[in-house]
Formats: sequence, C-alpha cells, structure tokens
Amino acid sequence: MAGDGERVAIVGAGLAGCLLAVLLGRRGVPVTVYERRPDPRVAGAERGRSINLAISARGLAALEQVGLRDQSLKRALPMHGRMVHPLGGAQNFQPYSADGRRAINSISRAELNRSLLDAAEATPGVALRFSQRVTGVDVEAGELLFEDAGPEPAGVVLAGDGAYSAVRRSLGFEHDADFLEHGYRELTVPPRDGEFALDPDALHIWPRGTSMMIALPNLDRSFTCTLFWPKGDFAALDTPAKVTGYFAENYPDVAGLMPDLADDYAHNPIGSLVTVRCRPWTRYGAGATVALLGDAAHAIVPFFGQGANCAFEDCIEIDRCLDETGGDWRRALSLYQERRKANTDAIAEMALDNFVEMRDRVSSPVYRAKQAATHALERRLAGRYVSRYELVSFSTLPYAEIPARIRRQNIVLGAAAAGAAAVLGLSVRAVRRR
Ligand code: FAD
Repeated sequence: MAGDGERVAIVGAGLAGCLLAVLLGRRGVPVTVYERRPDPRVAGAERGRSINLAISARGLAALEQVGLRDQSLKRALPMHGRMVHPLGGAQNFQPYSADGRRAINSISRAELNRSLLDAAEATPGVALRFSQRVTGVDVEAGELLFEDAGPEPAGVVLAGDGAYSAVRRSLGFEHDADFLEHGYRELTVPPRDGEFALDPDALHIWPRGTSMMIALPNLDRSFTCTLFWPKGDFAALDTPAKVTGYFAENYPDVAGLMPDLADDYAHNPIGSLVTVRCRPWTRYGAGATVALLGDAAHAIVPFFGQGANCAFEDCIEIDRCLDETGGDWRRALSLYQERRKANTDAIAEMALDNFVEMRDRVSSPVYRAKQAATHALERRLAGRYVSRYELVSFSTLPYAEIPARIRRQNIVLGAAAAGAAAVLGLSVRAVRRR
C-alpha cells in the first residue's frame, strides 16, 4: 500500500498540477513536478492556448486555500454579465446574477500559472523540473518514463498533463474523446486611444447560430476574442479581403476595432474542443499508484468557463481525501474518484448545453424575457429559487446536484403557476399557451 512516505510525482505544471503541488507540499509530502515545457516564467507563454480564463467561485475558493485568492482578484477584471451583440440589433447587457452584483473574473492564464508556479517553488518539499516530457508510467516497476531521459522511481503519480494526457494514453485508460465539429481561433481587439474599445465589465458574445464569437477583457485594455466555428469553415476565408469582408458582414460592430484581424486570422492556430470521459481515473500496480486529475481526467468544452475551476476542485478534493484517510494514497485516490466523477460528468453536460444557449438562445427576446423572470424569482424567493448559472458560477454546490435542484425548482414553480392559474379560473393549458 502506498503511504505518505512514497515518492510522489505530479505530471504537468499546468493550473491543476501546480495547485496540487502546493497543497501536497503543505502537508509535508515531498513532491516532484515534471513539466514538458521550459519554465514559462523564463520562456514566455505558449501560443495557441486561451489567453484569459473566467475564474469564478469554485476556482476562487480553491485559490483561497493556498493564499492566492486576493492576489489573483487584484489582477482580474470582473465581468458582471454578458453583453450580447445581435446581428443588426443594439447590443444588450444581461447581468449574471439577480442582484447584478456578482461577477466572474477575467484572469490571464499565463499570469495565474506563473503565480501558481511561484507558490509551488516557494513551498518546502516541492521540486519543479522543466523540459521533461513524460511518456508514461510503469506501474509494476514503479517508474516514470521520459522521452529524453532514463526512468525515475515514483510510487504515486498524479497526472495533470492535460486533455491529451500521455499518462492516460500509456496506461490504456478506457476513455472517449468527443471532439466538437467546432474549433476556435483567437483574435484581438486592442485598446482604442488607450482605453477599452468595448465595455470591460462584460463577457461579450456575438451569437451567430453555427458560429459564435466571445471576448474577454485583459488588463492591458485589450480584449481577446475567441471565434468558434466548424473547423472546416475556417479555411474558406483564405485571403485578407475575404476575412475582412466576412467580419464586416457578420460582426460589423467589432470588425473595425480589429486592425490586425486578417493577420491574426491567418496566423493564429485553430484549437480543438474536446470532452474527455474516462473511467476509472486510478490504476494500482505493484510499484505505483496512478490517478488522473483536471483535463487529463475530464476535459470539457469551455462554454461554461468551468474547466480550470473544476480542475482546481479536484486538487482540493484530493487533499481532503488524504486528510480523511490519514494519508493512505490508495484509499484517498479511490475516494477522490468516487466523489468527483459524477460532478465532472455533470459539468461536462452543462458545458455542452451552454454552447447551444450562447450561440443560439441568448439573442432571442423570449430568452431575455425568461432571464428577467428568473432573476425576478431569485430576488423574490431568495435562496429558494436559484438559476443554474448562479449555482454553477457563484456557488460551490457539487455540480452533480445542480440538474436535480433545477428540476425540483421548476416542478415547484410549475405547481405554483398552476395553483395561481386555478385561483384565477384559468386552465393550465391556457396558461401554457400564453
Ligand atoms: P492544462 O492547463 O492543460 O495543463 C497541463 C500541463 O501539463 C501543461 O503545462 C502541459 O505543458 C503539461 N504536459 C502535457 N503533457 C505533458 C507530458 N507528456 N509531460 C509533462 N508535462 C506535460 N476554464 C475555466 O475555468 N474558465 C475559462 O474561461 C476557460 N476558458 C477556456 C477557453 C478555451 C478556448 C479552452 C480551450 C479552455 C478553457 N478553459 C477554461 C479550460 C481550462 O483551460 C482547462 O480546464 C485547464 O487549463 C485545465 O488545467 P490542467 O492543469 O488540468 O491542464
């Protein structure tokens, strides 16, 4: 049985790997983190990953545990709602919460990763090893395998090596990787006359049916836009004139704010959007115990802004399970998987569903009326009626409990509406028709 005295390796110094290293170091567990890239604090961030992230209640609660919440918030831009830009209509602001006061936070991914790396490096017992590409684990021999170096002993391997995890692949974990037909490409709206060219207090959305663009503000007063489009369609815009023409037609209110549009479009990579469903997340061999976490275990599409928030929750749960099992790695990791799996499945489905909401529904007047009614109910029935967005983004209620809670709320609401209708002498059918 793997105990607290094991050599612990974390694969991947991304968001989850670094946070977990800090948590384990603080427990007095010596840990080595292996990262395939050079140190990003020296080499600069890699191109092609999202530039900024929306971090909300779950991520902040996790960062608080390692003393990084306030520091991160100081470098974040709060977004209190969505600014929807319909084609041919006026932009409209839709607050995220009923009281209009709650916000999700636009944070630079590179900066957050750097702060976590600094925190990991400053934690006694944590060693960071860069430019080390792990290729797999030999669970019988208890060895971590590398592309360019000999094996190293490891009794516990925690794989936070992202959606395309080499550890997951090497051990043949059973999993599905569902790719969306859509990919994404990042574009930039720079500052205009030194100021934000769009409202910085909002996450901007241009819903266009099959395609969609969003924009999040950055501290340098620019916006990073992410264009989601079926992958095959990107290639159709193969000249600068076609790119600017397409944007002038489909994104007219922002096209003029993107002086480098054609160049960004031609040179920025197209990213993939994948949902990874894997089970189990753990493997126990004679020599090593392995567990997956973060995107390696459950990559999700980004439409609820929860992938990193959810990966951080994994780290907190591993730490909690170690507490509860007295540092017994096997029991702790089994417990971690048991507790997290239903939650990560739930957010994976909600994230896919939110894509449809963002690209199709948000601009419809019916949707807006429903949102306004939901917020009115939330204010009226404070704490008893809470929207799905609020439960996901502004609470730490386990994700798996959210769909059932929403169903219950809707049943009660339906019954209340039917009761009210009966009092008013209307049939339910008549109410539904209205
Ligand atoms: P990663 O951040 O991918 O880190 C993995 C690390 O492992 C990397 O440092 C990598 O270099 C390293 N690595 C990989 N392979 C190896 C190897 N073989 N050996 C050694 N090291 C290796 N989430 C949010 O919460 N909010 C958002 O707004 C949001 N927006 C997003 C927008 C887009 C377009 C995308 C694609 C994702 C978004 N996400 C968002 C999701 C978020 O980026 C991920 O969920 C999060 O980064 C997962 O963290 P991780 O540490 O598990 O993996």
